[in-house]
Amino acid sequence: MLLRARIVLPITAPPVEDGAVLISGDRVLAVGRFADLHAQVAVPVTDLGEVVVLPGLVNAHCHLDYTHLAGRLVPPRTFPDWIKAILAAKAEWDLAAFSASWRAGAQSLLETGTTTVANIEAMPPLLAECRAATPLRVYSFLEMTGIRSGRSPDSILEEAIHTARTLTLGHGGVGLSPHAPYSTTPELMRKAAEAARRKGWRTTTHVGESAAEFDMFMYRRGSMFDWLESQRPMEDCGFGSPVQHLERCGILGSNHLAVHANYLWRGDAERLAASGSQVVHCPSSHAYFGHRCFPFDELTAVGVNIALGTDSLASTRPTRSHPPVLSLLEELRQLQATNSMMSPQRALELATAHGARALGLAGQAGELREGSWADVIAIPHSGSIEAAPEAVVHHSGRVTASMIAGGWAIPPKE
Ligand SMILES: [Zn+2]
Repeated sequence: MLLRARIVLPITAPPVEDGAVLISGDRVLAVGRFADLHAQVAVPVTDLGEVVVLPGLVNAHCHLDYTHLAGRLVPPRTFPDWIKAILAAKAEWDLAAFSASWRAGAQSLLETGTTTVANIEAMPPLLAECRAATPLRVYSFLEMTGIRSGRSPDSILEEAIHTARTLTLGHGGVGLSPHAPYSTTPELMRKAAEAARRKGWRTTTHVGESAAEFDMFMYRRGSMFDWLESQRPMEDCGFGSPVQHLERCGILGSNHLAVHANYLWRGDAERLAASGSQVVHCPSSHAYFGHRCFPFDELTAVGVNIALGTDSLASTRPTRSHPPVLSLLEELRQLQATNSMMSPQRALELATAHGARALGLAGQAGELREGSWADVIAIPHSGSIEAAPEAVVHHSGRVTASMIAGGWAIPPKE
């Protein structure tokens, strides 16, 4: 099949006017000018018209099952207050509610251009049926905590590995997510890191998200320290920053996605870079909590790969006029609003090629080139080639079409 578009944005190569993408099965065979490719091969043409065609977006951090908490939790006074609020909200839900919420999130991502998502899975019993219900490539990271339950790290880890093994992976994959330094024991973090390396899986943790977490590990003080003191041993606090804690647990590495990393200590950016860890920035969630500026320049200067995530809609403000939508395009808009110097092309790279690299999918997802996956989205655009990246970043609403693994997940209108 030959897809024709006003403009093709391959991301890792220059844009092409009156471009085309040649697709065979689930792969891209070639990207180029329509006239050239059409002259070379006799295949059916699907003309998408006045659109920009680009690789499907890669959402590197999400919690699909919290989608129906959109706008329900007002911005908290302290980070622990938010954790308490989300725990209370979740306690009211049964499995059917979580399932409906997960599926609504997946549908919303699909309609807004995501084709690959790294999702934190807190409800293992739902996973098989939820994954089967979406055409998205879902990389399911099994969440592990264990502070409240007091269960042994071995049994928590065994259960997560068992769940991962029983899943039919289809177009996606699995990994492990020890939730965060404060919500796990160092032993669980260490064992999860070792198990993931043995299996060739990726790991992801929330780290340095809030000032409260930073103060707990760095100084043994603050709202999170006070709240958790009666719930967990605090012997792992007082030895440095949350990133240093992860380093001590041996979980940093090229297979690791460090989510948030808002509060870094001296040398933390270098620690992340030296280990090859990826960082995932979630602009809307960052704005909701009013964290200090995300250390973009610091991380970029030392060569850390920064990807983009939606996080969940549980960290969105309640509004009447504009209900929050789970969408990586919304994150791109938020990113541009807070980083006006960043070009739309660069912002798009975070949401595509960088996300793919974070998930170990470089060359397959997040770009259009010979041999990449046929994961393609189309967004309306009748303007110039120069304005195409900006048109994508500022597009709101549904995409015109979405293809995953060579099949239409959202077919173009006839
Ligand atoms: Zn998260």
